[in-house]
Amino acid sequence: MTLYFDHAASTPVDPAVAAAVAAALADPALQANPAATHAPGRAAHEQVEAARARVAALIGARPAEIVWTSGATEANNLAVLGAARFRASRGRHLVVSPLEHASVLAACRQLEREGFTITWLDPDRDGLIDPAQVAAALRADTTLVAVMAVNNETGVVQDVAAIGAICRARGVLLHVDAVQAAGREPLDVVAQQVDLLSLSAHKMYGPKGVGALFIDGTTLRRVAPLFHGGGQERGLRPGTLATHQLLGMGLAAELARTRLGTDRCGQTSLRDALWMALARVPGVLLNGHPLRRSCHIVNVSVEGVDGESLLLALETLAVSSGAACASASGEPSPVLRRLGRSDALAQSSIRFSLGRGTTAAEIEAAAAIFAAGVAHLRRLAPPAVA
Ligand SMILES: *Cc1c(COP(=O)(O)O)cnc(C)c1O
Repeated sequence: MTLYFDHAASTPVDPAVAAAVAAALADPALQANPAATHAPGRAAHEQVEAARARVAALIGARPAEIVWTSGATEANNLAVLGAARFRASRGRHLVVSPLEHASVLAACRQLEREGFTITWLDPDRDGLIDPAQVAAALRADTTLVAVMAVNNETGVVQDVAAIGAICRARGVLLHVDAVQAAGREPLDVVAQQVDLLSLSAHKMYGPKGVGALFIDGTTLRRVAPLFHGGGQERGLRPGTLATHQLLGMGLAAELARTRLGTDRCGQTSLRDALWMALARVPGVLLNGHPLRRSCHIVNVSVEGVDGESLLLALETLAVSSGAACASASGEPSPVLRRLGRSDALAQSSIRFSLGRGTTAAEIEAAAAIFAAGVAHLRRLAPPAVA
């Protein structure tokens, strides 16, 4: 059996969420279009609005500030493209972290093709962004800053509140990809002064294919939509709302909010136990800041082994690896390269990501498989002696 250590890629659907989604699909009272004004339409609409309130509560927002999307890829695109394009007459300059998810980076590259300029921030070797650097990068024509809350590869946690205070004081919008932070780190868009924030249901025990973008009330009418159609979501994201999906995300958000403390404590101690066990293998390096990290990710690089072979040796572990990224894009992880890791160490990186269901026994088993795998590879191909 495979041990699942890839919760940063997708979490299993919580059984209560799966039951709620299935029940909504089968419920004759929820089949109408939630935009319809007749009684069945209003019944569906009510469920959608209850779910919206639950998502809003997770991040300290008002329900009216939540826009449903198909996931965080769409939410990130809507935030970056929509906010930048709407403000193009005021300025065409953005300040962005190079450690963002592909959906932010690719949206930025699209903006560059449209004549926008990006200043890329320069994180330190632990993956942290100094808020003072954000302040220094702002120009008179800057309209948007984008910095993710918790990095999906390393788990490093940024100081969103400090960056938020700087942006708010300068009248610049702050977009935060909070996909990995949701349910793992406290989020409060008011206290942290965030203007746009992306969430994805399937990274917090909800269904795939649904997400949300928080847009601060004062910004709501100042984002250009990506899609054009009916007036749903105030015209920001037209299309018939998927009642069952939204209801599932709402329940997932409710569970994430109420279980934050328990989930976080449990996973932090398991995460530390995992790192302590992995660190007993010689030549294993932790990627990202040793302390400013979320409870669910341990990313390590292994000296003197080939990434592809390592992944094969860890076949019984469902983990993510620098080598797997490399086979898709032909490039070693840009995130790890930015942290100063060589191509070889970026290639031989393994990301373990824990979840609500992870047990101490699984941690022990995973650490043993890892130690045996690395030892085996080193016996086959001992590191060259200089
Ligand atoms: C998974 C992920 C996304 C994309 O979310 P989808 O809902 O799968 O499109 C965006 N940002 C981060 C940090 C992620 O981990």
